[in-house]
Amino acid sequence: MFSVKNLTKTYRKGAFGKVKFNAVDNASFEIKQGEIISLIGESGSGKTTIGKLILRLLSTSDGSIEYDGIDVSSFKGGDLKNYYRHVQGVFQDPFCSFNPIFKADRVFKMVREEFFPKETENNWNEKLNNSLKAVGLNPAEVLNKFPHQLSGGQLQRLLIARALLLDVKLLVADEIISMLDASTRIDVLNLIAKLRDENGLSVLFVTHDLSLGYYISDRSIILYKGVIVEMGNTQKVFHNPVHSYTRSLLEAVPRLDSKWDELEHKYSHEIRGDIFIPGTTEGDFVLEEIEPEHFVAIKK
Ligand code: ADP
Ligand code: MG
Repeated sequence: MFSVKNLTKTYRKGAFGKVKFNAVDNASFEIKQGEIISLIGESGSGKTTIGKLILRLLSTSDGSIEYDGIDVSSFKGGDLKNYYRHVQGVFQDPFCSFNPIFKADRVFKMVREEFFPKETENNWNEKLNNSLKAVGLNPAEVLNKFPHQLSGGQLQRLLIARALLLDVKLLVADEIISMLDASTRIDVLNLIAKLRDENGLSVLFVTHDLSLGYYISDRSIILYKGVIVEMGNTQKVFHNPVHSYTRSLLEAVPRLDSKWDELEHKYSHEIRGDIFIPGTTEGDFVLEEIEPEHFVAIKK
């Protein structure tokens, strides 16, 4: 459905912008229908940049993003508007997505004006109520309220409801759990899993938190310095990491659960001498399939 090929985003840094660096470096992966794919990496690894490139909030420096076989990177006007029916983002701080001086449900009025101008009042209200209920919100509790009268979890649900109104195929969820308190976290995670199971929604779940990625995703991408160093079936990546960076991330997870302890000593794959370590290894890399559904960056 979505296919990201050799995606690269180059920025300039240094006093006079003389030094170029790739915030995203030659990233290739697919997002299939009805799967949750985690994009995991520490701060600065390029996760948000990938999300924003897919959402066309940033322009690509190289490579392509294809949706159903069509490169979206040159979409403008009507094509871009149509693209946003299928792809929407929800970001870390839900308060930023709402204008504090307007009622929160203004985001729905804007969707109606922009995408459903011919819809009758009754039909629209029914649609809206259905999408609010689908994300576990009571319309009477959240409509007609200002953002400050709602919780972070409620605002995020409103944004997910907005995405559902548009019938999105892909939701880019960037650190959406970080701001929420513990009891709301699990509800929002479960909601996302429910939307995958019942609506066939695909989700790019961006997180710096390994346990969240492990909990929710079908496949995982481990990003380090803009490079995909390891990727594949979540069980395989977490239980049998091959890249030294993935292992060091896993070893840094506080072990509340002794299972992590057991895992650590049972890796059946050796760390290979030819793995590619961004920032250290010279030259180029390829993603090699070291077992079915499990890829690692290897020196070219
Ligand atoms: P993450 O979301 O994983 O924390 P980002 O995608 O936000 O990482 O950033 C990746 C890298 O790109 C970081 O080193 C960041 O400083 C850099 N970066 C992001 N935006 C810009 C920009 N507009 N100009 C220059 N560098 C940027
Ligand atoms: Mg980020």
